[in-house]
Amino acid sequence: MDADAVVIGAGVVGLACARELAARGRDVVIIERHERFGVETSSRNSEVIHAGIYYPAGSLKARLCVAGSRRLYAWCAEHGIPHARIGKLIVASTADEEPRLDEILRQAEANGVSSLRPLSAADVRALEPHVRATRGLWSPDTGIVDSHQLMASLLAEAEGRGGTAAWRHEVVGADPLRGGGFGVTARSDGETTRIEARTVVNAAGLDADLVAAYPGLNARAAGYALHFARGHYFRVSRARRTWPGTSSTRRRACPTSASTSPWTSRAASGWGRTPSTCRSGCRTTRSRPRSATRSTPPPPATSKASSRRTSRPTWRASGPSSRDRASRSGTS
Ligand SMILES: Cc1cc2nc3c(=O)[nH]c(=O)nc-3n(C[C@H](O)[C@H](O)[C@H](O)COP(=O)(O)OP(=O)(O)OC[C@H]3O[C@@H](n4cnc5c(N)ncnc54)[C@H](O)[C@@H]3O)c2cc1C
Repeated sequence: MDADAVVIGAGVVGLACARELAARGRDVVIIERHERFGVETSSRNSEVIHAGIYYPAGSLKARLCVAGSRRLYAWCAEHGIPHARIGKLIVASTADEEPRLDEILRQAEANGVSSLRPLSAADVRALEPHVRATRGLWSPDTGIVDSHQLMASLLAEAEGRGGTAAWRHEVVGADPLRGGGFGVTARSDGETTRIEARTVVNAAGLDADLVAAYPGLNARAAGYALHFARGHYFRVSRARRTWPGTSSTRRRACPTSASTSPWTSRAASGWGRTPSTCRSGCRTTRSRPRSATRSTPPPPATSKASSRRTSRPTWRASGPSSRDRASRSGTS
């Protein structure tokens, strides 16, 4: 075997898997088609740490979200990743919507989230005067995280424990090996290379089904069909963003009936203002540490994984080319 474990995709999921494998003493190679980590969905999200309120009880999503949220807060605290447990307000804007709040409360409790607190209309108004509501729920465990720094910390730990990354390598084929494991074929700058590994983690995000198909796995048949969804984004007007009577950085509200984000004092948290989005799809003002930057210099295109390839006789040509991803973007 060329590597003990290969992780395909350097989004937040692939990086977390790579870190975990490396922490268990596995020799990990991350293969990523872009020149750096987190270029796709992991850098285009709302950076919310979800509490695990809505998912069906017992589902993988519910279990992973609830356990993951606790581990994520702990990871952030331990590694100095900017984050804030800002809480979330879920509201009923009419009496008709109130039974839905009761359902959400029941669902949360079934998922092991016992921190939700019912709010009266007056409670909601006191928290967010711009939000009209007949009742509400307060989720104190919902928060935000700097996803870029989170991913950087995962990669740093994986690399610190011997993991390596091959940037600008697109996986274009994979085949099961007779004695277990997979041969993975990747293409970079017109060159095709192959790496054999005992374990392969498919963390290819929106292309995970394509990657799964290379060795003959049918993601849909296995119950992992991708469901594309389209969100709508709204900008909060400047006037509405300001908490009356306080500094403009004191508190921010998301103008949907579904949720608001009461921001803590920027001075207290040390976060600066950067445009971002909230979970319910609003574009609002997001805090970010002043020191944080999105412009990570691309890592060297060739690290241990790809430099190895020149000395690996097992690299061989070809493999199915990946489907046109352009046709997938914008799918809803
Ligand atoms: C609008 C929006 C808002 C969201 N908000 C939140 C939120 O607030 N909180 C939250 O927890 N989640 C949120 N999510 C979901 C979250 O962003 C995703 O679940 C997460 O980023 C998925 O990470 P990933 O590593 O699986 O995928 P990705 O980040 O897409 O990573 C997959 C990687 O695999 C690489 N790859 C794919 N195919 C190949 C190949 N053949 N060869 C080599 N590399 C390959 C890609 O280049 C990519 O880097 C949101 C998502 C969206 C779209």
